[in-house]
Amino acid sequence: MPVFQSATFTFEGPENVRYARYNNTPNHEALHEKLTSVLATEAALVTASGMAAISSALLGLLEAGDHVLAQPGLYGGTLSFLGDLAPRFNIDHSFLPEEGPDAWAGAVRPDTRMLYVESITNPTMDVGDLEAMVAFAEAHDLVAVIDNTFASPINLRPAELGFDVVLHSATKYLGGHSDLVAGVVGGTEDALASIGATAKLLGGTLDAHACFLLHRSLKTLAARVRAHNRNAQALAEALDAHDAVAAVRYPGLPDHPAHERADRLFDGFGGMLSFDLEADADVDAFLEALTLPVVAPSLGGVETLVSQPLYTSHASVDPETREALGITARFIRVSVGLEGTDDLVADVTQALAVA
Ligand code: PLP
Repeated sequence: MPVFQSATFTFEGPENVRYARYNNTPNHEALHEKLTSVLATEAALVTASGMAAISSALLGLLEAGDHVLAQPGLYGGTLSFLGDLAPRFNIDHSFLPEEGPDAWAGAVRPDTRMLYVESITNPTMDVGDLEAMVAFAEAHDLVAVIDNTFASPINLRPAELGFDVVLHSATKYLGGHSDLVAGVVGGTEDALASIGATAKLLGGTLDAHACFLLHRSLKTLAARVRAHNRNAQALAEALDAHDAVAAVRYPGLPDHPAHERADRLFDGFGGMLSFDLEADADVDAFLEALTLPVVAPSLGGVETLVSQPLYTSHASVDPETREALGITARFIRVSVGLEGTDDLVADVTQALAVA
C-alpha cells in the first residue's frame, strides 16, 4: 500500500469529499477494510491512539444523562476518562458488582446505556465471564463494548461472542513493534456511523505514515501473536516452577481461575503475564540482572517489556485498592516478546537466581 502523504484530495462531488481528518483517505480506507476482516466486525475505524478510539466510542455512543456499567480494574486512561472527563458531559458510571452475574442486574439503572469491559484485565490477568456479559447486556438493552487490546484479534474476536463494539490500542499487538501510536474501533455499521462522526469532530485521526506502518504490521499479526503465545506459555511455566517466584498469573496455566473459560473462548492465551517474586527476593537485583527484557511500560512489541505496575499503571490508584489487587513492589508485569524462547527463559532464570 503506498503512502498517500496528502491532507486533501481532488474534489469529486459533494458525496465524496476526501480530507485526512475525515478518516477517508486511501490509506484509511484500505486499513478499514483490512481491520473489518481481522476484527470480524461489520465496520472498523482507525484512530490516532487507543485513547482516541475509547473517547470517540464513548462520546459517540452516549448522551448527556446516560450511565455506564464498567468492569472494575479497567485500563487507567479509561478510568480517568469515565471519572474525570465524562462527568463534564453529564455521563455517569458505576462498577459491575464483583459477586458475579447474579448481582449485576441490581446495578442497572433506568439511565444505564452501556456495559464496558476488557477481555483480559491489567495487570491481574483475569478473564471475565464474557458470554454472561453479552447476555446481560442484551437482556437490559445495553450496548456491549469491550477493549480487546490484551488478547488481540488473533486470540479473541469479541464480535463473534456478540459484543457490539470492540476497541483496541493498536499501539500494542496490532502495531506490534512499539514504533507507532494508533487505535481501532470495530463494530456494527450503526455504531460506527455515530462513532465515526464523533471521531471526525474530536479530530483524533491517524496520519498517512502511521496508517502505512499499521497496515504493514497487520500482515504479520497472526504470526507474531502465535509466537507471543508460545513464548508467554513457556515463560509462565518456567516462572511457575521457580523457587524465587511465589505466584504466576497467566490464563494458559491450568491453575489460573479462568483457564477453562479462556481455553474455550480464546484461540491462544496471549503474550501478557504477571508474577509475584517471593517476599525475601531482591526485586531491584532481579530487574538489573535482566539482559534481554527491557524495563519499560506499554506492551505488545517485539521486545519483552517488564514493569512494576505499582510504579506505572497503578501509581495513582489508592493503596487499599492496590493491596486488594495484590499490587506490591514484588508484583511484576511482563509483555512477552518475540525473542528466542530458550534465550528468554534462560535470561529470566539467571536474573531470578540473583533476586
Ligand atoms: N487499552 C488498554 C488495555 C491499554 O493497555 C492502553 C494503553 O496502555 C490503552 C487502551 C490506551 O492506548 P494508547 O496508549 O494507544 O492510547
